[in-house]
This record gives sequence, structure tokens and C-alpha cells, in this order.
Amino acid sequence: MTKTKSNMYSDSVKQWNVFVGCEYDCHYCRKSFQAQMKRQKHNCDDCYTYTPHFHPERLRQSLPKTTGDEFIWACSSGDITFAKKEWIEQILDRIRELPFKTFFFQSKNPKCFRDYKFPKNVLLGTTIESNRIYKTISKAPIINNRLWDFKDIKHPRKVVTIEPIMDFDYWTLRRWIYSLHPERVYVGYDTKKSGLEEPPFSKTVQLITTLGNFTKVKLKYLPIEVLDRLPKMVKYEKIDNKIEDYSGW
Ligand code: SF4
Repeated sequence: MTKTKSNMYSDSVKQWNVFVGCEYDCHYCRKSFQAQMKRQKHNCDDCYTYTPHFHPERLRQSLPKTTGDEFIWACSSGDITFAKKEWIEQILDRIRELPFKTFFFQSKNPKCFRDYKFPKNVLLGTTIESNRIYKTISKAPIINNRLWDFKDIKHPRKVVTIEPIMDFDYWTLRRWIYSLHPERVYVGYDTKKSGLEEPPFSKTVQLITTLGNFTKVKLKYLPIEVLDRLPKMVKYEKIDNKIEDYSGW
């Protein structure tokens, strides 16, 4: 099985971590986002322990331009469910000053998006890794609630991430994703070998193929057995993976 080296979005030109931390404790996070934060041992104790906290000194950081599908990933190392509202309002104030740059917020509790008025240059995303409930891998809201809460969010720009993909029921998951009208969907397998219940390759191929009929599908970390079977005529983009630069956090 060929997998790539990072589990980040290659459309992300910058991880802008003005807020950091999360208490959902997803198993696969310990080896990815939380592991990255261990590098901050000598800079910030709260980053090291992934305790939700604010870094106001990063609010005025220089932020790169974005083009096409690119975005600046706001609060990538955490979930804004655990942020104080006043912190996120300050982040949104800065975002409103930069209407020509695109920003991305992702939460496993999309209900929290109701607390804010997001400008049009913001993409909102949630993770729907399956339609099945796998209670033991995370303390995040169960998948059904994520779906309904995300549906209720009145924002024109939505993204769904099916990563790390877990075994699913094809027709149900297809219907769920369709009902959210996402402008794009990211699909990827677990890069960290966390022992998740993954779907058979053929099922993933079937899902990607059908998603490509109604939205833009962006492929992340897929086994070669999946990549090789995807039909050429399906509208999807394979992302060139890269290792992100964390300097300057
Ligand atoms: S919700 Fe996101 S940030 Fe929080 S533990 Fe899970 S993967 Fe990590």
C-alpha cells in the first residue's frame, strides 16, 4: 500500500494557529496534530498538552495570498468548539480585513459554526469519515449529529472531509454528502496506521466515482489500489502532497 507523508491539506498555504487545542481526543490525532504540537515543548506548555488556548500575538501575522482552491487554514491544530467566542471574533475581524484571501475552518462539531457570522471568503468544513458510528475512536459528536448540524448552517461555502475514511454504507454516505451540497470533498485513508476499520478499496473507488458526478473531489492519501482503479473521466484532482512549514508559529 502506497501512502504519502503528510495528512494535511495541500490546498492549505498556511496553518494559522491563533487558537490551538481540542478535547475530542481522536485516536489518529495523537499521531498527527497533537504530535506536531509536541514540537512546541519549549515554546508553549498549552500547545504541548493540546490544551485549548489563544495566541493573540499571531493575529497580526503576515498571511500569504491564496489562489484557486488554496486557503489559509485557521485554527488547524484544534477545534474551535473549545475556543472562547471572543477569540474567534477577533480572528474573524482579521479575516474581514482580507477579503481576497480564502480561509478555512473545520470542526467535528459543526453546531459551533452557528455562533458566528462567517464572511464569504471563509470555507466551512466538517469531517464525515463514514455514515456509521464508531464511538471508540473519538469523543467528538456522533456522525449523524455532525450531518444534521452542518446541514443547518446557512453558509454558501461548505467542504466535507472523508478522512480518515472508515467503512461505510455506500448509498447512505452518498446521500448524506449530496445533501450537504459541498463545493468540494476531500477523501483520504488514515496515514498513521491507527488500526481503523477501513473500507474495501472497491467501495472507495465506487464512492469517489459517484461523488465526482456532483462535486469536486480532491484526493488525499489513497492506496495505489484505489488510485489505479479510478476511471479517467471522473472529475477529481489528485493533490500533490507536501510537508508543511511550521516555522514561525
Ligand atoms: S477533532 Fe480534530 S483536533 Fe480534535 S482531537 Fe480530533 S482530529 Fe484532533
